[in-house]
Amino acid sequence: MRRKKTKKVWVGKVGMGGGVPISVQSMTKTDTQNVSATIKQIRKLENAGCEIIRVAVPNRKAALSLFKIKREIEIPLVADIHFDYRLALKAVDSGVDKLRINPGNIGAQWKVKEIVRAAKERKIPIRVGVNAGSLPRDLLTKYKKVTPPALVEAALRQVRILENLNFTEIVISLKAFDVPTTVKAYQLISKKTNYPLHLGITEAGLPEAGSVRSALGIGILLASGIGDTIRVSLTGDPIQEVRVGYEILKSLNLREHGPTIISCPTCGRCEIDIISMTKKVERKTRNIQAPIKIAVMGCVVNGPGEAKDADVGIAGGKGYGLLFRKGKVLGKTKEKDLVDALLNMVEDLRKERRRGSLMHRY
Ligand code: SF4
Repeated sequence: MRRKKTKKVWVGKVGMGGGVPISVQSMTKTDTQNVSATIKQIRKLENAGCEIIRVAVPNRKAALSLFKIKREIEIPLVADIHFDYRLALKAVDSGVDKLRINPGNIGAQWKVKEIVRAAKERKIPIRVGVNAGSLPRDLLTKYKKVTPPALVEAALRQVRILENLNFTEIVISLKAFDVPTTVKAYQLISKKTNYPLHLGITEAGLPEAGSVRSALGIGILLASGIGDTIRVSLTGDPIQEVRVGYEILKSLNLREHGPTIISCPTCGRCEIDIISMTKKVERKTRNIQAPIKIAVMGCVVNGPGEAKDADVGIAGGKGYGLLFRKGKVLGKTKEKDLVDALLNMVEDLRKERRRGSLMHRY
C-alpha cells in the first residue's frame, strides 16, 4: 500500500504526516473543568494505546484546567476551541501540543494573528477543519447543499488564512456523517494540498453502527494511501474509539498493536461454546500491548489450518481440544482447560516478546 507523503508536523512527541505511522487519537467526554475526571479518563485512554488526546475548551475555566491536565498526562494534549481567541492563547500558555481552531470563526484578523504568533513561538501546529454541519452560509448558497467541493473550499479558506500569516504547521480535517461525501472530500483535498490529514466520520453513532461507518470511511481512504491520523467518533466510551481505531489500522496492516483475535464464526461442526470462549480470551488479553495473533477455532479438523497465521491458538473437539502455534499442533487438552491453556501460551509469548524488545532496545 503506497501512502501519500504529506508534510510532517509534530504534535508534542508524536509525528504526523511525512510517512510516520498513522496515529490513533480520541477526545475526552468529561467536563474539562473537572480536572480529576478528565485526567482519569485520559490515563485510561493512554493505557488503551491512545496517542493524542483532544479536550473541549468551551470557556475560561476549562482553559485554566489545561495546565493541570497537561502536567498529569503522558500523551500530547490538543485544545479544541471555537470563537474566543483568548481561550486559544490561554491554551498555548498552558503548554498544549496542538490547537484545533477555525481561524475564520475567531473574528478580527488581529486576534488570529495573536494566536498564530503564540503557536509559532511554542512551535505547535493548528488543525483546521470543516464539519458538514457548520459549513459557511455563502458556501451552502453557492453549492446548494453539503457537497465534497463545498467542504474542500471551506477547509482551504481556513488554510489560506493561516498561510497568509506565514503559518504552515497545519493539519486538515473534513468531516461529515455521510461516508461517500466524506471520502470524496478527502480525496479531493488530498490532490490540492500536502498538509497531513486527520480522518474521521463525524457523529458516526452508537458503537456498532459507528464502528462500521468509521471503518468504511476511514478504511477506504487509508487503503488508497490517504490519511495521517485517525479519530473514530462514537457515542460511547472513548476507549472503544481507540480500540476500533487500532482494529481499522491493523486490518489494513498499517499498525501492529496488542492482540488480534482470529476466531471462527462457528458452524454445525462446532462442539464447544466458541462464543463465550472467545469473549473470555478477548477480555483477558485486552490490556496486552505486544502484537500477538490469537486463534479460537471451533473444530480440530479445520481450525489449525484455517488459523495457521496465528501465533497461538486452540481448536475445539468433543470434550477436548488442540493447542497449536503457527498452525503446528502442540498438544491436546480437556475442553474445560482449553481457554486457560491458551491464556498461558499467550502470557509466555508476551514475556518472550517483551524480553526480545528489551534486548533490542539495550
Ligand atoms: S473452524 Fe470448524 S467450527 Fe469453525 S467455522 Fe471452520 S469448520 Fe466450522
